[in-house]
Amino acid sequence: MNKKTVRDLRPDELRGKRALVRVDFNVPLDEKGNVMDDTRITAALPTVKFLLERGARVILMSHLGRPKGKPESKYSLEPVGRRLQQLMPGVPICFVESTDSDEAQKCTRDAKNQVVLLENTRFLGGEESNDPRLARALAELGDLYVNDAFGSAHRAHASTEGLAHQLHPAVAGLLMEAELRYLGEALSQPKRPFVAVLGGAKISGKIDVIENMLPKVDRMLIGGAMACTFFKAMGLETGKSLVENDRVDMARTLVKRGGEKLVLPDDALVAPSLESASAAHAVKRDAIPKDQAMFDIGPVTCARFQREIEAAKTVIWNGPMGVFETPPFDAGTAAVAKALASATKRGATTVVGGGDSAAAVAQLGLESAMTHVSTGGGASLEFLEGKTLPGVAALDDRN
Ligand code: ADP
Ligand code: MG
Repeated sequence: MNKKTVRDLRPDELRGKRALVRVDFNVPLDEKGNVMDDTRITAALPTVKFLLERGARVILMSHLGRPKGKPESKYSLEPVGRRLQQLMPGVPICFVESTDSDEAQKCTRDAKNQVVLLENTRFLGGEESNDPRLARALAELGDLYVNDAFGSAHRAHASTEGLAHQLHPAVAGLLMEAELRYLGEALSQPKRPFVAVLGGAKISGKIDVIENMLPKVDRMLIGGAMACTFFKAMGLETGKSLVENDRVDMARTLVKRGGEKLVLPDDALVAPSLESASAAHAVKRDAIPKDQAMFDIGPVTCARFQREIEAAKTVIWNGPMGVFETPPFDAGTAAVAKALASATKRGATTVVGGGDSAAAVAQLGLESAMTHVSTGGGASLEFLEGKTLPGVAALDDRN
């Protein structure tokens, strides 16, 4: 990676210094404000521990939800602070309610406070508009900037992008580094065969991913509802399936351009509706009934995809193969996840990107069976589209 990380800093750049660390603590909360899933909190701990062990003090900041530039109690990071304290029992964590006040200044200057958590950055006007005045005010709180919020790196906000121009050194944290390494190496120097598995609801959201990856991969396996738009382009009956009519021409072009590389499902699991899942049955792709919809790839396709994945040396997977939230339409997604797990065991590099795909892998308990599961939904998608992430671009270059 051509960006500096915390591991590139000299001991004197960390000892006794205030490291202002942008993390992604945008976690789901229940009605009572309890943290429902702390994956993103635990994912930031290696960076926090790395900095503490080298004598730095750690000032954490994150957004949560979508407050509109002013405080809203339901989006407070206080419950996140409590969970963080449970995860790091030996380290006193000080929560600071207002980021832009004297209190924040005082608290972050007090050397006793080893870890400080600042209130939601989106409570501040200027965060989302990337106001340089806010970035300068935040820069006052630290001696160096660490960005470990891969999940927010596709947004140019004051705490993710602006700050990297105001405070130096500005470096990547360990999570950010891992995300960029796994996604980046898979894309730029894949061991072959290199297989992409794409699915999800809409082809429109993934067109740029398909365009960017098609020239790089040896095979592109297509599932999910987006397969139906391809079917329509091939002149097949799609019944009540989710089809994007305004993308049919585009799908036709991609089928032509993809040739042998592009592998579409041979069969489909169909039902009259999601409510009548018990009526689900498999049909060949040219026999989808007019009054039914495709909700998953069929068993023949599962076997084909499994063969392709298990023969691969690099696999990138984005997007579920079906409506995995509603069994039995989780079968295709489970088959793909298991194939990735066994490919990993055999030494292949397997990377999962996308919020729903990551959730499906977690639901199956297969997270640790993959080489890497990205914590950034939108950010990983933009990375696969070949876009530069502003939060990464702004960090210091490694000389
Ligand atoms: P990711 O978050 O991994 O990038 P997407 O957001 O693109 O994935 O797509 C996930 C959604 O796609 C899921 O909610 C799933 O139910 C839906 N989906 C997948 N296949 C189908 C299908 N055949 N018909 C309708 N919805 C589908
Ligand atoms: Mg999604």
